[in-house]
Amino acid sequence: MNLSGFLPELAARIATLRRDLHAHPELAFAETRTSALVAEHLKSIGIEVHTGLAGTGVVGRLQRGTGKRAIGLRADMDALPLPELNTFPHRSRHEGRMHACGHDGHTAMLLGAAEALMKLGNQANFDGTVYFIFQPAEEHEGGGRVMVEEGLFERFPMQMVFGLHNWPGLPAGSIAAMEGPIMAGADRFEITITARGAHAAMPHQGTDAILAGAALVQALQALVSRATDPQDAAVVSVTRFHAGHADNILPEQAVLGGTVRSFRPELQDALEQGMARICNGIETTHRVRIELEYVRGYPPTINAPEPTFVSREVARQVVGGENVLTHLKPSMGAEDFSYLSSVVPGCYVWLGNGPGEGGCMLHSPHYDFNDAIIETGIRYWVRLVEKALAPA
Ligand SMILES: [Zn+2]
Ligand SMILES: [Zn+2]
Repeated sequence: MNLSGFLPELAARIATLRRDLHAHPELAFAETRTSALVAEHLKSIGIEVHTGLAGTGVVGRLQRGTGKRAIGLRADMDALPLPELNTFPHRSRHEGRMHACGHDGHTAMLLGAAEALMKLGNQANFDGTVYFIFQPAEEHEGGGRVMVEEGLFERFPMQMVFGLHNWPGLPAGSIAAMEGPIMAGADRFEITITARGAHAAMPHQGTDAILAGAALVQALQALVSRATDPQDAAVVSVTRFHAGHADNILPEQAVLGGTVRSFRPELQDALEQGMARICNGIETTHRVRIELEYVRGYPPTINAPEPTFVSREVARQVVGGENVLTHLKPSMGAEDFSYLSSVVPGCYVWLGNGPGEGGCMLHSPHYDFNDAIIETGIRYWVRLVEKALAPA
């Protein structure tokens, strides 16, 4: 039977599985039930399974023909520490956790694609190896980085890697495949200002951590407005400022923190160096000590030309050219698929999730993955394998 023949039945089963995952959300690196379910499903359809990478990570391997080429398809499995406010039957059974980013849908669709490829047998026309990568901890904890550090690409060599994310606000079933930057790099910083505290009525007898901090918040805004090419997107946001406890005391310490977003590693370097430079200047001006802790987070997600070409061609085939978006603005959000695609050329696409209930967005306590896009997702993965590993 061809794909269209069995896809409705398969997608319906995958939707049931997706709702089961939604009802049992698990947080970063603790996706034990999900991981076991994924491994079990892959085994049951006859796919070679490797477990234990990054703890709960699972890699399925499917080889056809004698070709040496290989690609990876990646799904993320983790949920968010967020109390769910939905009331439908498949709402979270776990207090304080929910699938508010649709990773339940990503995991389910990739399982569906693996099953479709097995069902198609030799009708699926490809020559080479497909790795189905189920990663833990996409949200903030960098499960993708841990998989790479623990040898993902040494154990499973591949030439291209692909990811997708459901995207609320884009029409259901549309696909956005942009070449170049698609998600930002996300760094964070903490700045500790140490002053010589004093009586607030006699400020000249000490130094002022709060005034230095205020000057610092202002000065940091010049990094984007005056030290960055206006054509180069970047964000520096100070999101925390803690200091003081009384009206008549100038405190000894102020602690500030926040996030830095950008799309180019060179710009990340420049922003980090600029931040250090400004801290030094404020230190001298205000006679305080400033310690800057700058922590590199997810690198920017950059779609490489060749995999993006493949993704677009496949997207056009699956949803029609008019539903393939190629020139949307990238998001300032971050994505740890970048740890994979900064080692191996990759393409990460957005799969339209539709407007959703009340137009709610990712990480909303009302979010839910749209089961109506499962068929499109499965079809995209299957055709992508055939295109990327087309017989020579
Ligand atoms: Zn998320
Ligand atoms: Zn996500």
